[in-house]
Amino acid sequence: MNFKELGLSNQMLEAISYMGFEQPTPVQELAIPSILAGNDLIGCAQTGTGKTAAFVLPVLDNLTKDHKHETSVLIIVPTRELAIQIDQAIQGFTYFTPVDSIAVYGGGGGSDWDSEKRALTSGANIIVATPGRLISHLNMGYVKFDSVVHLILDEADRMLDIGFYDDIIKIIKFLPKKRQTLMFSATMPQKIRQLASKILTKPKEINIEISKPPEGVLQAAYLVYDTQKTALISSLIENKPEITSVLIFSSTKLKVNDIVRDLRKTEKNIQGISSAFDQNKREEVLSDYRAKKTRILVATDVLSRGIDIKDIDIVINYDVPTDAEDYVHRVGRTARAKATGVALTLVNENDMYKLKRIEDFIETPIMKIPLPPALGEGPSWNPVYISLSDKNFKGKFRKRSGKKKPYNIKRDKRT
Ligand code: AMP
Repeated sequence: MNFKELGLSNQMLEAISYMGFEQPTPVQELAIPSILAGNDLIGCAQTGTGKTAAFVLPVLDNLTKDHKHETSVLIIVPTRELAIQIDQAIQGFTYFTPVDSIAVYGGGGGSDWDSEKRALTSGANIIVATPGRLISHLNMGYVKFDSVVHLILDEADRMLDIGFYDDIIKIIKFLPKKRQTLMFSATMPQKIRQLASKILTKPKEINIEISKPPEGVLQAAYLVYDTQKTALISSLIENKPEITSVLIFSSTKLKVNDIVRDLRKTEKNIQGISSAFDQNKREEVLSDYRAKKTRILVATDVLSRGIDIKDIDIVINYDVPTDAEDYVHRVGRTARAKATGVALTLVNENDMYKLKRIEDFIETPIMKIPLPPALGEGPSWNPVYISLSDKNFKGKFRKRSGKKKPYNIKRDKRT
């Protein structure tokens, strides 16, 4: 199928070819005709599937046909980074059109507030906002939302995880009842269905995944003691100029600094990013990494969802994410939209059960690679199941047989 067959206008087809997209992705094939037909939609699609264009293109199609100077589209997203990224995608598609958009998110300086206020007062066509910041503006009384015809919630599961449920409901009270509402989520837990039943009207449903890493990703794991991890990473990337972009994930903000400090001894072109950084610093670091000025970026899960950076050669999980879905989001940073990539996970003796849990979740064994001989022996594979009270475990608990106490039990105290 091609984009023309989806029913998009010539103007949008031009914008698509300007972006270099040749064929629609599966989520675009399913979502675009349904959105053009005016349906509410609930879409289960992970990042990297092309879901941003799946909702942006049909909505822009509508806006460009009958352009007015008023706010017609509100897109609510969980993080500033995603707000900026979606706004940039919109700017790409609207380059030759009169449609304007603005990203509204907290954390910037006073001048950001003023330009957001101007856009919200004068009726910028598309607002891409994080909930907290938008509510601060709504509380001031000047926001004009009476002409909004499309409401989009992206990464809805993430928004509920962060605790934005009440904020979302509050924002929706400011919108006209007659509107098209589209909700995208990487997962579809019960709480998302409840939100959907509250804010969507007779939605069509599309389901692109079960949460699995993109097919182009080569996934592998090293069984390694913590003391060997930095040396292992160095050995994987040093003297390999062909590897230009490496993304290392750590579960905690504190560890980001430690990893950067340790790796800097052998690799100067490295930066860290986490929610501990202020907004300007985060944007600067991200923009350097996107532009390939920075070779290695060490990040917390702030980056794992939604953020689109092209041509990442290797994603390295410095530790195993507790939530199996976070693993999928992390490794999804490589192999975006069908390219290939490599995702390596460093597994210490206490994290083996988490890796096993991830293998169960993605229904694929992850290849275990031997350590380079210079590093010595690592721990041997022994994924003991624990976590009776682990709420992330998703019902896959399997009892150990026999009477021996599991010796690998160690609760994960990290946040
Ligand atoms: P997303 O899942 O929306 O974050 O998109 C992931 C990446 O795929 C982005 O870099 C998009 O620019 C790219 N992309 C989206 N749709 C297409 C398409 N039809 N053809 C090629 N690339 C695409």
